Amino acid sequence: MLLSIVVSVYNEEQALASFYQATSRILSTLAWEYELLFVDDGSQDGSAHILERLARSDEQVKVISLSRNFGHEAAMIAGLDHCRGDGVICMDADLQHPPECIPDIVDLLEQGYQVINMVRTKNEDAGLVKNITSLAFYRLINRISDVHFEPNASDFFALDRRVVQVMRTSYREKVRFLRGYVQNVGFKKTTLPYAARPRVAGKSKYSLKKLFIFSVNTILCFSNVPLKLGIYVGMFSAFLGLGVMVYTLFTRDGAPSGYATIVVLLCFMFAMLFMVVGIIGEYIAILFTELKDRPVYLVAGTKNLEQGEKKET
Ligand code: UDP
Ligand code: MG
Repeated sequence: MLLSIVVSVYNEEQALASFYQATSRILSTLAWEYELLFVDDGSQDGSAHILERLARSDEQVKVISLSRNFGHEAAMIAGLDHCRGDGVICMDADLQHPPECIPDIVDLLEQGYQVINMVRTKNEDAGLVKNITSLAFYRLINRISDVHFEPNASDFFALDRRVVQVMRTSYREKVRFLRGYVQNVGFKKTTLPYAARPRVAGKSKYSLKKLFIFSVNTILCFSNVPLKLGIYVGMFSAFLGLGVMVYTLFTRDGAPSGYATIVVLLCFMFAMLFMVVGIIGEYIAILFTELKDRPVYLVAGTKNLEQGEKKET
């Protein structure tokens, strides 16, 4: 049996050496064969050189270099597209996902589990703001979407070959949430808790702004509720109008002359109107992106990998 470890790498020159050492030490104790597939997501630091050196000295190390930075998820998708394993584990290069969990994951794969979600029990690196916003995000999405998201799931997960095939053929959306797909493909799945550790070196590439855009896109991708907001806003406005009409008709002294009321109401109504139009605009933007069908990633070069195995999408 072959185990593939897919690792996305973006400017991780300080972490790569310790990651490689820690991971290959554990992998070599397993009964399974393994390949360590690094996806260099357009790193601008020395990561590419380090990966090249590792690939030269160890032929179990394989490298895919993307043509530019496409983002963490695109890098993972590139890895899933090119790995050959009967089981695949996706993990980060910063050792926040402890390689010590690999033997347990392999046990579960051997027991026939097809999707293994790693659930974080604590995250020493995330600050209070990140933790609170993340909690709020999962509350919201679980309310308005018909699929369920595990709040503490991470980009640390394992799939068997069948599910990897599903990921390759379906789920090719351009605006996407890979972790959400993995949790909702079904198949025989289980979770395994782990304690996230602090980064070994370097710093996190996810800013709050990036996380916000990511969250908005995810909500739009997994829920139609925002699209229906217009109906509720319309109903609300209708009732408000009706109320004011009835009040004006039946009040004794006629309608009060109110310049301020009119201006406030107008602003309020237009605000709601434009918000709804904006939300529709967001959905159209997603449609447009999907329609253009640009590639999720582009491969610039590979090492220790048979060329032309799979075309890039
Ligand atoms: N990463 C990537 N492309 C990017 C940003 C990050 O491949 O554009 C990789 C990064 O090298 C790391 C993983 O994705 O292996 C997770 O990134 P990071 O540790 O910065 O995120 P955090 O753990 O803080 O959520
Ligand atoms: Mg990290």
